[in-house]
Amino acid sequence: MEKKNIDWENLGFAYLQTEKRYVSNFKDGKWDDGCLTEDANIVMNECAGVLQYAQTVFEGMKAYTTEDGHIVVFRPNLNAERMTDSAKRLEMPPFPAERFLDAVEQVVKANAAYVPPFGSGATLYIRPYMFGINPVIGVKPADEYQFRIFTTPVGPYFKGGVKPLTICVSDFDRAAPRGTGHIKAGLNYAMSLHAIVTAHANGFDENMYLDSATRTKVEETGGANFLFVTKDNKVVTPHSSTILPSVTRRSLMYVAEHYLGLEVEERDVYFDEVKDFAECGLCGTAAVISPVGKVVDHGREICFPSGMEKMGPITQKLYDTLTGIQMGHIEAPEGWIKVIE
Ligand SMILES: *Cc1c(COP(=O)(O)O)cnc(C)c1O
Repeated sequence: MEKKNIDWENLGFAYLQTEKRYVSNFKDGKWDDGCLTEDANIVMNECAGVLQYAQTVFEGMKAYTTEDGHIVVFRPNLNAERMTDSAKRLEMPPFPAERFLDAVEQVVKANAAYVPPFGSGATLYIRPYMFGINPVIGVKPADEYQFRIFTTPVGPYFKGGVKPLTICVSDFDRAAPRGTGHIKAGLNYAMSLHAIVTAHANGFDENMYLDSATRTKVEETGGANFLFVTKDNKVVTPHSSTILPSVTRRSLMYVAEHYLGLEVEERDVYFDEVKDFAECGLCGTAAVISPVGKVVDHGREICFPSGMEKMGPITQKLYDTLTGIQMGHIEAPEGWIKVIE
């Protein structure tokens, strides 16, 4: 298979249309057989449920080339499960997990020419999503849905080296107690746009959201979970029913415990203790971990000892081990790497 002539190293994180995408429709109470299509556009009624009442959920993962030349996807079964949870919370019919996995495989195979070569640092981002498509004007769930997966090649996250982030404590809330913070839904992002635009305008890279009930505990950023490292090398992550269960964060916690032999804790993390941590990172599919150098709380600066030049030592070990597992240099736990071809 001939790869596309793309400047992989210099790709950013932007949509670049690839050849094939997967589509399946839910109608009369069932999903159809689904197929690949070349049509990247969707035609829907002006009153479609997704357009009027934001009934849509999504997932994000990536396919990449390992050193021995296989195209693989990292733990897609967890994305399938999470999308089922997201769909149920928004009264949408889940797309069956085994069909989700088959569809991911079909789409990645069909776009294999767009999977960046090993060593480029680039990956093929995979975006499954589904939405209510029939007209809905009285507030209720749609009766008809479309499930789709498209792919787009994206560049290396740490182009030009790692730069620790400066983040601010947000005055906005991300997720209500007993709300939708734990599902991957467009609605959580729509309402975060004003907060992130505000943070950027004030010179910050990201927002740190606190729990909206008490505003005393750390939750997450708009799209990544927190990992902290204590001064005695314990890896700590916030436990909360209103954060999105990141596949990357769950994998890193496993790596910390089982590969690096570190103590791990998933628990309430009070904002008051953030100043005592040695390292801080943001976990998500795109970057694996982005180090945080500084947290600013209304003018008060908390600077982590790891500084603004590089990742802290434990963050670096976590990053190297997980990316080593993903790329095939380090043996993966059973079932973590799905080989596509
Ligand atoms: C997708 C997402 C993450 C990261 O999850 P991964 O599965 O690691 O990519 C974290 N927080 C939010 C709000 C997200 O939507």
